[in-house]
Amino acid sequence: MYKIRFVTRNTTIFIYNNVARNIASLSMLSETHQMLHKTCRDFAEGELKPLAAEIDKKHLYPEEQIKKMGELGLMGIAVPEKVGGTGLDYLAYAIAMEEISRGCASAGVIMSAHNSLYLGPIEKYGSKDQQEKYITPFTTGNKIGCFALSEPGNGSDAGAASTTAKSNGSNYIINGTKSWITNAYESDAIVLFATTDKSKKHKGISAFIVDKAAEGLSLGKKEDKLGIRGSSTCSLIFEECKLPKENILGEPGMGFKIAMTTLDGGRIGIAAQALGIAQASLDCAVEYAAKRQAFGNAIIKLQAIQQKIADMALKLESSRLLTWRAAILKDNNKPYTKEAAMAKLSASETSTFCAHQCIQILGGMGYVTDMPAERHYRDARITEIYEGTSEIQRLVIAANITKEYDLN
Ligand SMILES: Cc1cc2nc3c(=O)[nH]c(=O)nc-3n(C[C@H](O)[C@H](O)[C@H](O)COP(=O)(O)OP(=O)(O)OC[C@H]3O[C@@H](n4cnc5c(N)ncnc54)[C@H](O)[C@@H]3O)c2cc1C
Repeated sequence: MYKIRFVTRNTTIFIYNNVARNIASLSMLSETHQMLHKTCRDFAEGELKPLAAEIDKKHLYPEEQIKKMGELGLMGIAVPEKVGGTGLDYLAYAIAMEEISRGCASAGVIMSAHNSLYLGPIEKYGSKDQQEKYITPFTTGNKIGCFALSEPGNGSDAGAASTTAKSNGSNYIINGTKSWITNAYESDAIVLFATTDKSKKHKGISAFIVDKAAEGLSLGKKEDKLGIRGSSTCSLIFEECKLPKENILGEPGMGFKIAMTTLDGGRIGIAAQALGIAQASLDCAVEYAAKRQAFGNAIIKLQAIQQKIADMALKLESSRLLTWRAAILKDNNKPYTKEAAMAKLSASETSTFCAHQCIQILGGMGYVTDMPAERHYRDARITEIYEGTSEIQRLVIAANITKEYDLN
């Protein structure tokens, strides 16, 4: 039986008139998933959407909102209850991520990096002690984690990690720089990837859990980004950073595998984030088009505008189904690498498409900060880049398709 923290919270039901109420595919979900969807939507409408422009403009980390998301059970949503999580499945995670991101894409990526990139690998590969120390206190929204794979010299080519972890008695000594790390600034702990045996190339990479307070670890400057400006992105600099040997995650040499399997799950989260931005763009476009008059009529009556709305809705619904399919496969312990890549590729390209069309439908009002369209456009763009660029998703899909054929 799931313990669903979000049901017990006295959530105010907010009245709103600018979001699609009837997402047809919702009716095929279980009662639990529908209830979660409603709770997250109410929360996002009431507590994220009204602040999203300010969070973006001032580059504010939404600390209070993340704590409330912790109270709702969203900051450990797919973690088993026995280690302090909410015990829901990945489909629930995808549904919640979409709604949170529809309210605020920055809150979405903070939640995504924490859940799938930090908690995910510790839950799958961590020892009991590691889970008690690095998962349980991290499910409340009070402590945040991050995932440090990318480096200044390598992003897509993750196997070329140059950060090293040298064995030294009962410790590892870490040297190197990790770049672009989401949540790094606010995080309390890090899932880190470093090379323990360079001669073995990607098979010589190991994963570690590092306390942010570790001596020899410092933060680089926060990046000034195009979008998702409420989430921090910065470098982590390791200089002779001493790490106890028990902080290795899994076995030595398993790091690349841990990173790749973690990213498979993470891509479902980013796909859902992209869906949230796309849906917010569609909501904004439809509402505006229904009110805006041109040539004596609301512009929503123009076929040119209707075609844009139809294309946006079609891509959005298709991507949502791909995302839910990938999540359901993961929940059923079936292979889902290709499906997660398809979901992420489709949803991220849909997100930029919908945000682009939204600006077009709003005309001049789409280009200024009085309306959220320009923010959606900026927020959407990153979903085609992090956790594997669109080019890399296509490589993953093609490699898996090729395997499905008997080509010899
Ligand atoms: C805001 C933000 C947050 C991020 N958060 C994190 C995080 O939390 N943790 C983390 O570890 N990383 C994070 N990243 C890093 C992110 O995952 C990388 O930026 C991304 O994987 C691309 O790597 P790169 O920037 O080095 O680009 P490159 O790898 O240098 O790629 C440049 C271009 O070449 C293309 N390319 C590269 N190789 C191939 C190929 N084989 N075939 C076809 N095209 C190719 C790419 O698609 C891209 O178009 C973040 C990045 C950003 C911008």
